[in-house]
Amino acid sequence: THFGFETVPEQSKEKLVGNVFSNVAKKYDIMNDAMSGGIHRLWKDHFIRKMAPLPGTKLLDVAGGTGDIAERFLNFTSQKYNDTSSSVHLVDINPDMLNEGKSRFSGSSWEKNDQINFSLGNAEDLSFIPDNSYDVYTIAFGIRNCTHIDRVVKEAHRVLKKGGCFMCLEFSKVNNPIISEIYDIFSFKLIPEIGQLLANDRESYKYLVESIRKFPDQESFANIIREAGFFVSNPGYENLSFGVASIHIGYKL
Ligand code: SAM
Repeated sequence: THFGFETVPEQSKEKLVGNVFSNVAKKYDIMNDAMSGGIHRLWKDHFIRKMAPLPGTKLLDVAGGTGDIAERFLNFTSQKYNDTSSSVHLVDINPDMLNEGKSRFSGSSWEKNDQINFSLGNAEDLSFIPDNSYDVYTIAFGIRNCTHIDRVVKEAHRVLKKGGCFMCLEFSKVNNPIISEIYDIFSFKLIPEIGQLLANDRESYKYLVESIRKFPDQESFANIIREAGFFVSNPGYENLSFGVASIHIGYKL
């Protein structure tokens, strides 16, 4: 099998993920563009348009990293409604990624208005966040790195208010046989090479590809969200770029 990390024991996965993101933190944004040809930007824009946050929305952005989702969210509410009452709480497990996020917002009006806050924390255990406290929970390209995705989704359910919305943007299963062949070559051969070339780090990018392949497909993930107590419509997800990525949505009723 080419899934070299499949035998990694559970307790060391967090350490591995930690190393991966510390290694890539500085180059994270450039690498995203290089690997996806910029398409991750379109996916993230679409994700925020789909959320369509109203003024005053309290967002919890988990595995928020360098702040791509947080910034788009604040841009949306600022530009559409001239709103200064919406806010984002960005949580990430990795201090290096969190620092990249902090520096992105430093000096911004959002920071001055206290519309953005940061916490170091694990998506599987948000015990520092009270029950029923956020309108929207987002996790973008973060959940596949977590060891227990069921715990992550249950924590999301706990911290959301009644009527609150869980939104996940994640790599998913390609649903077209031709695209799937191309995608395999691209991800197993090219991505590790680009990682080596641009970041001198083949292994981290091999890990990223493998983590994508191991993540549950669209239907299975929708069921995990249902099992955590969310209402998920049918199918409850939207495929982006033939399922290279997908958006899952669940409501806390
Ligand atoms: N959401 C950002 C985006 O879309 O650009 C960052 C995505 S980045 C691929 C994945 C992030 O998940 C990293 O910043 C990593 O530190 C974080 N992460 C991994 N495991 C985590 C966990 N258990 N809890 C919280 N964050 C985690």
